[in-house]
Amino acid sequence: MTNLRKALVIGAGIGGLTAAAGLLRQGIGTEVFEARPTPGRLLTGGGFMLWHNAFLSLRRIGLDEAVATDSVRMRFHEFRSDTGRRLARWHLDAPTRECGAPACALRRSTLHRVLTEAVGEHRIRLGARLTGYSQDADGVTAHFADGSTAHGDVLIGADGLRSTVRAVMRRGSEPPPRYAGYTAWQAIARLPGESVVPTGTFFNLWGRGGRRFLYCRLNENEVYWDAITSDRAARTIDTVRQPRGVALARAYRDWPEPIGRIIAATDEEAILPVSIHDRPPGGGWAHGRVVLIGDAAHPMTLNLSQGAGQAIESAVVLTGMLGQATLADLAGVLRAFEAARRARTADMVTTSWRIGTLGLVHGTPLCRLRDLLMYAFFDSVARSQSYSLMLDERLDRGSVLPVARATGSGPGR
Ligand SMILES: Cc1cc2nc3c(=O)[nH]c(=O)nc-3n(C[C@H](O)[C@H](O)[C@H](O)COP(=O)(O)OP(=O)(O)OC[C@H]3O[C@@H](n4cnc5c(N)ncnc54)[C@H](O)[C@@H]3O)c2cc1C
Repeated sequence: MTNLRKALVIGAGIGGLTAAAGLLRQGIGTEVFEARPTPGRLLTGGGFMLWHNAFLSLRRIGLDEAVATDSVRMRFHEFRSDTGRRLARWHLDAPTRECGAPACALRRSTLHRVLTEAVGEHRIRLGARLTGYSQDADGVTAHFADGSTAHGDVLIGADGLRSTVRAVMRRGSEPPPRYAGYTAWQAIARLPGESVVPTGTFFNLWGRGGRRFLYCRLNENEVYWDAITSDRAARTIDTVRQPRGVALARAYRDWPEPIGRIIAATDEEAILPVSIHDRPPGGGWAHGRVVLIGDAAHPMTLNLSQGAGQAIESAVVLTGMLGQATLADLAGVLRAFEAARRARTADMVTTSWRIGTLGLVHGTPLCRLRDLLMYAFFDSVARSQSYSLMLDERLDRGSVLPVARATGSGPGR
């Protein structure tokens, strides 16, 4: 039983809100500090995939059903070439049955709403941008841009890819995130019609010229999509002299339908380009009373659709461990958390990066070779590798405290 009384969570993204929900279930008083100023800003964002492992983790904090209720269950993950040829089709019903949890597509705002309700809006302080922290034997103090401070027993840095908590922990010596060489143009289109985009399939098209296109139905009216373009491909996408939608429609004009229809059905302001970054795997997420989770600790490219899934896993593992931690062994528990999570997240980062490099292939012969390899191996080898990574038994490590008490040295080093 823990004697931690107060946790400070920095960042009200998926990782921070999941951590806050998990801490509250452990009976630990929690406050979340978010730089963005309004709830509206917090709830923006497109759609995404949450795989089985994310739902298994959400179940541990009692939130899997609430998230699944407003999500679309995926039954197939389909890979195609830019000619529309099917290269592989993963059936997701069997793994859903076997592991007892679905893979779903959903709006980001759905997940945020469920997590926010679990935490309670009154525990989330908006417009609170962390600028630094200090810690000693009595606790940790967070410092905010408006001059205010907050004091707690433990501070969780869930402040994303360009984490301030991480920068302070590294005393400013951290290199910037690693750029992957491509951009994801993400949006939600208003496009009813089962015959245009069927419910329950996540389509993943791999094309020539450093282009990819992902899409899936989110509900009867909406389709989520991502156009992924290498820097070389993006040179021909002129969004300065023409609207983004027009430029992307031109870039994908020789691709099979419904891609043209999806882009045409999207509002210009809904299309948001995100340049894709990660960080090479590495340790150092825990220092005294302070710990990193989610993109602050292990940011990854989007290719496995696991960044949020891993943020959720880390949040649930960490808060399970904190529920058994005492003030005396807190620093050791945070180090044990890192040890429990490092290898699994490193594998995800590395695999996701490698998949992304396949998408940078430009010339037609190499792309055709890639298509052939995908046709030959994606229904067998790639699927089984992907599933053994996703449902790895290391997911369960950290739900107990294997080494923390043995290695614990008091906080505030
Ligand atoms: C195009 C794209 C598609 C993706 N698709 C998927 C997918 O299908 N499935 C999946 O699992 N993952 C996906 N991801 C990855 C996923 O979005 C991230 O891994 C996930 O959002 C990380 O959550 P987080 O809470 O760690 O960080 P974030 O979501 O970045 O949240 C960090 C929060 O901290 C706040 N903050 C930042 N600095 C401060 C500060 N100094 N003080 C206070 N608050 C601060 C920010 O405002 C933000 O609210 C995708 C990513 C991209 C870019």
